Amino acid sequence: MEKVVSLCKRRGFIFAGSDIYGGLSNTWDYGPYGVELKNNLKRAWWQSVVYERNDIYGMDAAILMHPKVWEASGHVENFFDLKSDCKQCKKRFKDADLSDKKKCPECGGELTEARAFNLMFKTHQGPVEDAQNVVYLRPETAQGIFVNFANLLDARHPKLPFGIAQIGKSFRNEITPGNFTFRTREFEQMELEYFVRPEKSEEAYAYWVNERFNWYLRLGLKKENLKQRPHDKTELAHYALACTDVEYNFPFGWSELEGIANRTDFDLKQHAQASGKDLQYFDDQAKERFYPYIIEPSGGVDRSVLAFIVDAYTEEKVKDEIRVVLKLHKTLAPTKVAVLPLLRNRPEIVELAKSIAADLKKNIITVYDDTGAIGKLYRRQDEVGTLYCVTVDVQSLEDKQVTVRDRDTMQQERIGIDQLKQYLLTKLS
Ligand code: ATP
Repeated sequence: MEKVVSLCKRRGFIFAGSDIYGGLSNTWDYGPYGVELKNNLKRAWWQSVVYERNDIYGMDAAILMHPKVWEASGHVENFFDLKSDCKQCKKRFKDADLSDKKKCPECGGELTEARAFNLMFKTHQGPVEDAQNVVYLRPETAQGIFVNFANLLDARHPKLPFGIAQIGKSFRNEITPGNFTFRTREFEQMELEYFVRPEKSEEAYAYWVNERFNWYLRLGLKKENLKQRPHDKTELAHYALACTDVEYNFPFGWSELEGIANRTDFDLKQHAQASGKDLQYFDDQAKERFYPYIIEPSGGVDRSVLAFIVDAYTEEKVKDEIRVVLKLHKTLAPTKVAVLPLLRNRPEIVELAKSIAADLKKNIITVYDDTGAIGKLYRRQDEVGTLYCVTVDVQSLEDKQVTVRDRDTMQQERIGIDQLKQYLLTKLS
């Protein structure tokens, strides 16, 4: 884990938040490579969940929502953790993490009785800070979908089964954030709410558990590092019929990447009751009116980014040296191609390399780098997962060919400059 954290900082994937002020604990900023990787991951999710299907619609709801949303959803009443403080060292612990509820696990001091803390961030809308203006930063994106259910029915007239997908920030005032970006107070979620006839919910649930699990595999997570963990009945929320977590074998242990739940008709019924609006679905063939059940695959962007980095991090021995290479899937790799002049003091080579890079950039995420000797440039690109390095040398000036090096095999091939873009586009497709 330390190696991954250090690589993330050194190469510009993830920095500590507010670093120059000593940091704000457990906040993280994504640097140039991090933002690309994160965007690629979100795009891959959207591609498989929205674009490749006919039955799912995208949306982007506001983070701030009417406070009644959180009453109806049960978050005001139920979304809390129990925590105890150590009277001696003053540290705070999540009750669920304590094996001995009376004794501090760090200093052995006496613990206070467990108290409930709501995990929602609370603030005020407008200039007056009174109880009437309280709003919460959403602790999940899902509610933005539920409250738009009727809007979507009106706007698009979808037939069951259909889904609504959303990616966005969520906030939870977690008691025990940590493990780098795994658990933070501000994070991004990718959530799908899939509406089905009640009698079809178990089938749809099994489908989505499988589909979401396979999505991680298709994007390259190693099979041995991924598993499904069905919840037992005692773990389930009172309204949920079933839930399965997709877990990843992080260096700190197996932990949740995504949860897939059968939420029944709880959410729509709650919002219908609290808002007084009709949130039933009308089946015009069967002439029936009913509340659909909801299957919810809910994943974390930041956790997935971390899992993909950890999984891709590879150290290989190459001629008595250790090569660090980030073997990210081609869809996720932040940079696809790097163009590198072999001799940076030869203006004709530099010029040719720059013009090749400029042309590739129109279609492929490409960087140009001439700030070091070729060995160093290769190492740098390997560490950030760049798929192909294109080297321009003296011979290129004459034979109009360049050397293309594959990140994973390190094999090199001479390719004509006029064929290069097509060659790379084929490899990347
Ligand atoms: P955990 O048990 O780890 O707290 P959860 O079961 O409360 O997670 P859900 O409410 O199911 O999580 O949220 C769906 C997804 O959102 C999680 O699978 C995770 O990927 C992500 N997520 C939830 N809380 C956090 C957090 N504090 N930091 C980063 N990601 C989070």
